[in-house]
Amino acid sequence: MPREGLCDTAPAMTVLLQTAPAPSAVPIGIAAKPSLVGLTRARLAEALAGVGVGDKELRMRVGQVWHWIYVRGARQFDDMTNVSKALRQLLDAHFTLALPEVTSEQISKDGTRKWLMRMPSTGPHDRGAEIECVYIPETDRGTLCVSSQVGCTLTCTFCHTGTQKLVRNLEASEIVAQVMVARRYLNDFQSAATMRDGARAVSNIVFMGMGEPLYNLQNVRDAIHVMTDQEGLQLSRRKITVSTSGVVPQIEALGAETGAMLAISLHATNDALRDELVPLNKKYPIKALLDACRAYPGLSNARRITFEYVMLKGVNDSLAEARALVRLLSGIPAKINLIPFNPWPGSRYVCSDWEQIETFSEYIFNAGYSSPVRTPRGRDILAACGQLKSETEKMRARARLMLEESLVANLD
Ligand code: SF4
Repeated sequence: MPREGLCDTAPAMTVLLQTAPAPSAVPIGIAAKPSLVGLTRARLAEALAGVGVGDKELRMRVGQVWHWIYVRGARQFDDMTNVSKALRQLLDAHFTLALPEVTSEQISKDGTRKWLMRMPSTGPHDRGAEIECVYIPETDRGTLCVSSQVGCTLTCTFCHTGTQKLVRNLEASEIVAQVMVARRYLNDFQSAATMRDGARAVSNIVFMGMGEPLYNLQNVRDAIHVMTDQEGLQLSRRKITVSTSGVVPQIEALGAETGAMLAISLHATNDALRDELVPLNKKYPIKALLDACRAYPGLSNARRITFEYVMLKGVNDSLAEARALVRLLSGIPAKINLIPFNPWPGSRYVCSDWEQIETFSEYIFNAGYSSPVRTPRGRDILAACGQLKSETEKMRARARLMLEESLVANLD
C-alpha cells in the first residue's frame, strides 16, 4: 500500500530512463484459455479434476504440475517431461501457462525495474486491469514490490496512487503472477546454478504497490500461501512484508493466517495530522492502531513491526515530532523507516530538507531504534514509492513533461 519516497534534496543517483521491450521468450497476451499460473493448490486441483484427472492420481498430478510451474518456471506443457503425453495434451487443450501481458519494462540505471502489466480481461466490458510492479536489487537481497488492488479506495494525501480510484481487487493468482513475471524476466527459476549457491534474484516481497492489502485480505492470504509453499516458490514468510495504512480489524487475522511481517504507514504522531495524511485514521485512530500492533501475532524483537514515516517539510519533520514518535512506539518491537517524500505532479507537499531528515533520524537512532532512511530508487523511471500509478489513468502529458524536466534538473 503506502508508496512514499524520494525527495528533491536526496542524494542524486540514477539518470537514464530506458524502456526495454519484453523478452521475446516470455509468453504474453490475454489468454483465450485460462492460465494455471498463480493458482493455489486447491484451485489447481479443481482445474485438473474439471478436465477429468481422476481422484486416485489427482494429488500426484497436482504435485507434478505445481513443481513445473513454480519451481521450474515451465512455459509450455510439453516441458513437463515426467507428465504423461496424454495428460500434457489434455492440459494444453484446456489451459495455458501464460502470464499477464507485460506492456512495458523500464530499467533504471540503478538496476530498479518496473513492469507495467495488463491482467487478462474478466469480461466483455473489461479490457484488462493494468498494474505496476517494481523490482529493487540490493547487494544482499532482491525485493519485489507487488500490488494488491488496481487503484485504491483510500486517499492518503501524500500518495500518487491515492489519486486513482479503485478499479477492483486483484485475485490471488494475479498477485502471484507478479512474482512469476519478475522471476521469468530475471531468469530466476530454479536451475543448476541456483540450486548450487541458493542465490535468488527475488528474495523478498513487499505489499507496498497499489492498493490497501487488508481490504483484499483473502486474496493476499492465498497469494502468500502460494509464495511460501516450500515445494514451490519457496519464499520465507519472514521476508514477506505487508504494509497497511491501518485497517485495524484485519491486522490480527493477517498475522495469524499468513505469518507475514507487518508494516504500518504511520506518518504522524497525533490524530489531527494523521487524519489529514491518512484519512483512514478518522475511523481507526492511532491508539487503536498501536493496540493492534502490540497484539500482532508473533511480535518479538526478532520480528519487529516497521513503521513508515514519510518526511514532509514543515508538516511532520520537527524534532518535537521525533520525540513524540519515540514516546508513541514505546514498548513495541519496532523499526522506523524514514522515507523522503516523492514528488509527483499536483502533490501538495515538499520533501524535508536533507539536514532535517538526518537530525530526525539521529534522534530516533539514539533512542534505540533502527531508523534507515530509505534510499531513493528508480527515480528516473518513476518507480520509487509514492509514484506507482498505472497507465489506467495516465498523467496528463504536460504534467509528466514538467515532472521529468524537474527530475532531470535535480539530477544534473
Ligand atoms: S492511498 Fe492507498 S495506495 Fe496510497 S498510501 Fe494510502 S492506502 Fe496506500
